[in-house]
Amino acid sequence: MNPGQKSATTGVWFRSDLRVGDHGPLLEAARAGAVSCVVCLDPRDEEPSRLRGLPRRGPFRARFLGEALVDLREALRSLGGELLVRRGRPEEVLPSLAREEGWTALHFHEGVGTEEASVEAAVRLALPDDCAVRTWWDRTLVDPSELPFAVDQTPELFTRFRKLVERGDGFPEPLPAPRSPLRRPATPAESGDLPSAGELGCGALEDDPRAVLRFHGGSRAAAERVQAYVWEEDRLKGYKQTRNGLIGADYSSKLSPWLALGCISARQVQAEVERYERERVRNDSTYWLTFELLWRDYFQLIAAKHGAALFRASGLQGIERPWQHDEQGFDAWCEGRTGVPLVDANMRELAPSGFMSNRGRQIVASFLTKNLGIDWRWGAEWFESQLLDFDVASNWGNWNYAAGVGNDARGFRYFDIATQASKYDRRGRHARLWCPELDRVPERLIHAPWQLTPSQQEAASCRLGRDYPRPLVDLDASVAANRRRWEESERR
Ligand SMILES: Cc1cc2nc3c(=O)[nH]c(=O)nc-3n(C[C@H](O)[C@H](O)[C@H](O)COP(=O)(O)OP(=O)(O)OC[C@H]3O[C@@H](n4cnc5c(N)ncnc54)[C@H](O)[C@@H]3O)c2cc1C
Repeated sequence: MNPGQKSATTGVWFRSDLRVGDHGPLLEAARAGAVSCVVCLDPRDEEPSRLRGLPRRGPFRARFLGEALVDLREALRSLGGELLVRRGRPEEVLPSLAREEGWTALHFHEGVGTEEASVEAAVRLALPDDCAVRTWWDRTLVDPSELPFAVDQTPELFTRFRKLVERGDGFPEPLPAPRSPLRRPATPAESGDLPSAGELGCGALEDDPRAVLRFHGGSRAAAERVQAYVWEEDRLKGYKQTRNGLIGADYSSKLSPWLALGCISARQVQAEVERYERERVRNDSTYWLTFELLWRDYFQLIAAKHGAALFRASGLQGIERPWQHDEQGFDAWCEGRTGVPLVDANMRELAPSGFMSNRGRQIVASFLTKNLGIDWRWGAEWFESQLLDFDVASNWGNWNYAAGVGNDARGFRYFDIATQASKYDRRGRHARLWCPELDRVPERLIHAPWQLTPSQQEAASCRLGRDYPRPLVDLDASVAANRRRWEESERR
């Protein structure tokens, strides 16, 4: 570099990738010269959801985001860098910073949803001409450029996708964090304040002691969770047997909130799985965690392939169904007042903790769409609002799947509530945990309290319609009625 010549500055736009390790945009920027790292708090994230007018980001995810930003700023500072925090639309914030600090390039990870893609397009348009744009895709375990098909040719069936992936040579190694200190721009812009809890809308949040875990945002907490689950508690070797659990921290990895915000990457998790396989044991459980990460990959690629179709009522396959728009039924579902303990317990877990097990999610999604026949997109919006681990591709993709309008739609499939209850909460521990009014109901009827006689209700201090709701629907009859309505709609 000539004396007096300014070193190149690269802007790094942090999005759902709040980490410094396995971060291609940051690593390459650090190699090229000075780095300016920025996160934009986009006011559009505060807008209510389209159909139900719900807050898009509930308080638990908001708190998690706030913690993750604190953690990222600390991590960048420890590397000699800084995290600039800006309030505003990226297409306004980034071009203005590019001019102020003289960026020659902007690096970022591509998003997967349609809104993310349109913001990216707007950013590209608004940047000064001499600021080049370079993007990465590190959100999946697989490297899309190594796949034997283009993203828009992703197979519609998961098994086909998985088999093609498993024919490859394994997964890319995670990238290291930048090794040498980050250089700051010659005249760095002001850092900007991190958002307060009040600004994020998660002021006085109380943690429910029944929650599976207190999830702290940030890469450090993600690494601690890996350390605890994989190494200290040694749970990975039994994951395949425990993964359908409903209670407690250790039936599954609970890594999803960190993966969703990119505090840890899928490749970093996979690297730990492979180390565990080398150092401790390799079995069907260790494989199964990779298998689940491939489900995650699959939904990311399917979302990228199908774009806006992910969000339409007729889903990825364009299958028209006679969805109901029953406000009361929907409210009862959200609030865990359907009178069906397996559903209510899971729904009552979600709101005060931001989490629900995978088994629970499948059950309540099936109940909403197949027993109540309610528009699945309402459910997807509720989950989007409440889930700590909300991820556009995983949420809307799984909802498509549960509603029977997704890529692998095969007629009217549903989860039989009685069977699910007897398999996954036979003794009613989860039901009692989240619906304490059922505490004294005998085990035999814990999942069918509507069968309690008046004297049994009295003895259990659980009067139907007073202490616990009567069921909103008859389980078998409602499934049969919705099946019939589907079949009729097919004949039309
Ligand atoms: C209706 C519905 C909505 C969902 N919405 C989301 C969402 O918004 N965000 C989200 O991360 N997951 C979502 N899932 C998938 C799954 O329920 C969660 O990933 C899982 O419960 C998280 O817990 P865990 O980290 O302990 O998972 P583990 O069982 O430990 O699995 C490890 C990782 O694999 C991935 N994974 C596992 N199952 C799935 C799956 N079915 N789809 C996609 N990825 C998967 C997750 O990243 C998870 O962290 C949804 C599932 C359903 C049925």
